[in-house]
Amino acid sequence: NRERIMQSERLNVISELAASVSHEIRNPLTVTSGFLQLLNKSKTISKEEKQYVELSLLELQRAEKIVSDYLSFAKPQSENMVHSNMKAESEYTKNIIIPYATMHKVEVKFNFNNSLNKSYDRNQIQQCLINLYKNGIEAMKEKDGGTLFIDISEKKQNIIISIRDTGIGMTNEEISRLGKPYYSTKAEGTGLGMLMVYSTIDKVKGSIEVESEKGKGTTFLITIPT
Ligand code: ADP
Ligand code: MG
Repeated sequence: NRERIMQSERLNVISELAASVSHEIRNPLTVTSGFLQLLNKSKTISKEEKQYVELSLLELQRAEKIVSDYLSFAKPQSENMVHSNMKAESEYTKNIIIPYATMHKVEVKFNFNNSLNKSYDRNQIQQCLINLYKNGIEAMKEKDGGTLFIDISEKKQNIIISIRDTGIGMTNEEISRLGKPYYSTKAEGTGLGMLMVYSTIDKVKGSIEVESEKGKGTTFLITIPT
């Protein structure tokens, strides 16, 4: 139990820190890549200089990716607090993810049954859902597509969120590493998405169960008490 409390405090510190860092870094990133893009269009720079500019843009893109996995932390928390049933957030994020899914030949099946009201940070829940959807879609990339099943329902005063993919799946060892900072098996991964997911669900006193079979797919089952 003590272990759990310490883990929870650690996650809090990490997310508070990430909040300020993301916020401070976002603007300079945007400004810098804007100017570099202008420079890239210049007719007077040499081929070599152009290469440097393009490399810099790629590096900035990577930094932007890291920040965007933490996007939700960038806003002051109390401002986004709502008392609601996650319908708006889950529908909005599902729509956001559709182009990404289509690009990877993934069909999204979304099902919202009744759900219960709960106080939560809207931005954090949105970011958390997006991180889970993205991982599901990316797990099906190598299998040349599949289906992402998103189900939201209620059960005995709990909000139940189930996210299932037909992707590459994980071994138990891989499952145990989920949420560790910078753990990623992807060439372009940040290894921050699941850290954000665990910290957000922890904040609403929820729990996450992972069921996965290598080569078959993965289900994330999230239970949030109301
Ligand atoms: P990233 O997506 O940037 O790699 P995450 O923290 O989001 O970082 O995920 C960490 C790792 O967990 C991924 O690299 C992947 O190996 C594994 N993972 C997460 N979700 C899934 C999933 N749905 N199916 C298979 N592997 C997954
Ligand atoms: Mg991810």
